[in-house]
Amino acid sequence: MPSDSRSPVPAPKKILLSVPHMGGAERRYVAEAFDENWLSTIGPNLNALEAEFGRLTGLPGVALGSGTAAIHLGLRLLGVGPGDEVVTPTLTFAASTNPIRYEHATPVFMDSDRATWNLDPELLARFLADRARVNRLPKAVMVVHLFGQSADLEPILAECRRYELPLLEDAAEALGARYRDRMPGTLGDIGVFSFNGNKMITGTTGGLLVSPRQDWVDSARKWSTQARDADPLGVNNYVHTELGYNYRMSNVVAGIVRGQLEVLEERVLARRAVFDRYRRALADVPGFEPQPEAMFGHPGSRHTRWLSCFLVDEAKFGMSAVDLIRRLDAANVESRPVWRPMHTQPIYRDYECVGGAVSEDLNRRGICLPSSSSLSEDDQRFVIDAIRRLAGVA
Ligand SMILES: *Cc1c(COP(=O)(O)O)cnc(C)c1O
Repeated sequence: MPSDSRSPVPAPKKILLSVPHMGGAERRYVAEAFDENWLSTIGPNLNALEAEFGRLTGLPGVALGSGTAAIHLGLRLLGVGPGDEVVTPTLTFAASTNPIRYEHATPVFMDSDRATWNLDPELLARFLADRARVNRLPKAVMVVHLFGQSADLEPILAECRRYELPLLEDAAEALGARYRDRMPGTLGDIGVFSFNGNKMITGTTGGLLVSPRQDWVDSARKWSTQARDADPLGVNNYVHTELGYNYRMSNVVAGIVRGQLEVLEERVLARRAVFDRYRRALADVPGFEPQPEAMFGHPGSRHTRWLSCFLVDEAKFGMSAVDLIRRLDAANVESRPVWRPMHTQPIYRDYECVGGAVSEDLNRRGICLPSSSSLSEDDQRFVIDAIRRLAGVA
């Protein structure tokens, strides 16, 4: 890699993309689990977490080992099986798509719109109209709310209703976001959240599935603990009539997530403030555009800025996004591209993709900057100064 007068002096300690940020109560809930020996996949933290999450979302839910497990169970609840097609955005993390393959179903990828970077409702409408004409509708639609920004849910839901297709919302990256005063992840038939270590809040790992249908939540809970039916003799002589999994969250992890949930709003505001500082401090850098915040014509919409994303115009900025990521890495700053679209992935190359140019452009030009809610102003200043130097506008 070229080193020149513009190369920033490396930061003394690596400035990471998105790190855990504990609130304080987590240790108490974990200590309670140890004190009372609830070191299992049952216990008071799990019950409390599900109750508290229910108050937040207004929906029943089940705490699971990961967001990926939640997506997998969600697809099973929708009856997705071998040979079924599931519409899903191409611009996402592989964790959205892989569970479709776990069920030997077929993803049909769809491009993003420029306003949200998420599933394009107009493409979806055209695709479903075409498929309805030939009597080949997909089994389900999945939408992903990337980087803390909601997809445009109302037109997507309208299309799903028109063809009676269920909607699964992957809100793993969007806890705390709002779509016209509502929480993305709570408008569809199934919603999925993640508490992976780099998300808005974390349990070190973990996920949660919500649904307006209590019977579905009950089924997911049962499947998550090996699908044990009630035993007629009442002696735990397990009866199995369905396929189960070991997907339940641990009561220790639930204690961490419980503590984190208490500071969710603070974390969202901190990440939004991080984004705002980048936006203001880099506004005069040519060819460095912030991701737009889609308001959907309603003041009650909110991007959480889980990750602060920008688009690099190579001609105006002076280097490509990839070169900028490399140069920041050399300066001890972690950044990464906007997700690599699934239709360009070796394992998903052979699947249909409707459009794709928008997501390819976002991947090629997009950069996600260090966005932790705990990012110090000094560290952020360092990142800003590094970008300004590299752009030659220091
Ligand atoms: C993190 C993530 C997931 C998966 O969540 P895990 O808890 O890590 O399994 C799913 N979809 C998207 C878009 C994600 O970013």
